[in-house]
Amino acid sequence: MSQVIIIGGGLAGLVSSILLSRNGLATVLIEKKKYPFHRVCGEYISNEVVPFMKHHGLYPDTADPIRISKFTLTAVNGREAHLPLDLGGFGISRYRLDHFLFRKATASGVQFLNTTVNSVSLEGDRFRVATDHETLEGDVVIGAFGKRSKLDKALDRSFIKRRSPYIGVKYHIEYNRHPDDTVALHNFPEGYCGISRIEEGRYNLCYLSERTNLKDHGQIPKMEEQVLSRNPWLEDIFSSARFLFDKPEVINEISFETKRPVEHNILMCGDAAGMITPLCGNGMAIAIHSAKLAAETVTRHLKGASFSRDALEMEYAAQWNAMFKTRLWAGRQIQQLFGAAWLSNAAVGICRNISPLANYLMKKTHGKPFR
Ligand SMILES: Cc1cc2nc3c(=O)[nH]c(=O)nc-3n(C[C@H](O)[C@H](O)[C@H](O)COP(=O)(O)OP(=O)(O)OC[C@H]3O[C@@H](n4cnc5c(N)ncnc54)[C@H](O)[C@@H]3O)c2cc1C
Repeated sequence: MSQVIIIGGGLAGLVSSILLSRNGLATVLIEKKKYPFHRVCGEYISNEVVPFMKHHGLYPDTADPIRISKFTLTAVNGREAHLPLDLGGFGISRYRLDHFLFRKATASGVQFLNTTVNSVSLEGDRFRVATDHETLEGDVVIGAFGKRSKLDKALDRSFIKRRSPYIGVKYHIEYNRHPDDTVALHNFPEGYCGISRIEEGRYNLCYLSERTNLKDHGQIPKMEEQVLSRNPWLEDIFSSARFLFDKPEVINEISFETKRPVEHNILMCGDAAGMITPLCGNGMAIAIHSAKLAAETVTRHLKGASFSRDALEMEYAAQWNAMFKTRLWAGRQIQQLFGAAWLSNAAVGICRNISPLANYLMKKTHGKPFR
């Protein structure tokens, strides 16, 4: 029987593994961390994924997702704009969602290996995937190892050679002055911070900042006090919320550079194929949608009369580009509106006074609901 190896068990890896296994393909998923675990993410998921997740029994309705239908944007000076969200979304922690999908994957027959992949190569018509413990062989490899992995270095991918200026920080907090149906994006100099409800009365507080802010202030608490708190909305959160983690989740070197959907014969999926800027609130939807695309394309080719790797790779790359390339490009353009104080004021002005333009920009980064 053909074997598919998936590297990375975030949303892209978990969802593609479930679909492939349910389609009757032997599927191995290799994830270096142990579920459940926290990861840096704003934890607001666009509703475009809901019909798909419900159709496949993957919508975590027993796990209490929070419905979010409004958007608030504030400038560094605290000036605010409010917009309805075209599609809306829901809030749930990755700790809970990924663990829920991990259990679904196990029940669907996916074989899990809790180890790190160090290298991948195609030898003849078989892949060799070397982990810390063993070398596996497979017919198809899906790369779902996220925005940045040691494996990108081993594969010599071009984006990894350039440094990225961004860091990401996440907390879960208790805070009673934010409406449950709203996701807010509060700007601060050289960054922005999102807040939205997740389960059990908690809120996700997650920000993206240029690394220079941290370099200038030495430590995260100092940076939050001196830079983020220049926005009065953030000042209120940082001074009055109850922070529930012992220390924040932090990641470095977040890159929005273009990547290629197929490299070294690996079908890249989710952030490994390209990451949309977090302010669009859309990375998780793209990870899930690209997992569907990868699983369906691989199934069709492996179960077809004769298998051609070239045809599989060409079809996947063409469809990935058609579905996601423009959205990622639009995200990069909108990202430029944030950071500088005067630009964030202008962005709030656009939302307040030219809401059709703001809606248009928002729609450009979002897809349509899919099944
Ligand atoms: C600050 C910030 C805020 C965000 N906020 C939002 C938001 O509110 N809404 C939204 O939709 N999106 C948001 N995103 C984007 C979203 O988090 C990602 O797009 C999404 O998690 C991508 O899923 P993925 O499965 O591709 O990767 P990931 O979820 O990153 O999963 C990759 C997995 O691969 C594993 N891995 C890596 N290397 C190896 C290896 N060599 N061997 C084995 N395992 C490996 C990792 O441990 C990880 O579990 C945000 C991102 C950032 C940085």
